[in-house]
Amino acid sequence: MLPIACLADNYAYLVMSPGARVGVIVDPSESAPVEAALRGHDVELVAILATHHHHDHVGGNLGLRAARPGLSVYAHESDQPLGRVPGQTHGVADGESFTIAGLTVRALHVPGHTLGALAYVVGDAVFTGDTLFLAGCGRLFEGTPDMMSASLARIAALAPSTRVYPGHEYTLDNLRFGAHVEPENRAIAARYATVAEHRARALPTVPGHLAEELATNPFLRTREASLLARYETKDPVVAFTKLRAEKDRF
Ligand code: ZN
Ligand code: FE
Repeated sequence: MLPIACLADNYAYLVMSPGARVGVIVDPSESAPVEAALRGHDVELVAILATHHHHDHVGGNLGLRAARPGLSVYAHESDQPLGRVPGQTHGVADGESFTIAGLTVRALHVPGHTLGALAYVVGDAVFTGDTLFLAGCGRLFEGTPDMMSASLARIAALAPSTRVYPGHEYTLDNLRFGAHVEPENRAIAARYATVAEHRARALPTVPGHLAEELATNPFLRTREASLLARYETKDPVVAFTKLRAEKDRF
């Protein structure tokens, strides 16, 4: 699972099959850095997995496909008739599993950021696009807060040892917000210090661990008494709605 820095703060990921020289790319924002990574690792690209249709996640699809006419491009089934994922060849349903490049991939439909958002589970990794960021979550462009909190809950229910590969390097900003809404949370303060030191050296913060997300990501913690009290509710979805709105203004 090799992160490939793209654009200003996006990550594409190269996922290589065990032992073989073939692989898949998650969310190629642009083709040039992806082509460089494929050459550098001597990997033949056989598929693209798109988490959602936004340009900064699919901008490299057509360039990569132009050089490889047989390349498969996977995205949610609802995006295929809309034609909004360039080069899409496969429409994936919620819970669908498929094998590509010797890797078993399971797709989870996680609407909220967009209606066709998917997370892909490969072994102990989950690729979350703009649904779950490290210490944060994506904006609600197309879905409702109920949808997004249900989607995040599905990701949160994966094994705590799962490694989380998000679409953007937003971790430090997210932790600054987390420390603001959970000032008593020592795990957030400690993670902020570690991540600040990483970022000062321009190191990536990906991947994360789901267990650490559960402890430090307020968007996965809206059942916590402190967050329910902050937003004066007993309903975690109401707390989620207000938390997301506060982050939008932060
Ligand atoms: Zn997006
Ligand atoms: Fe994005």
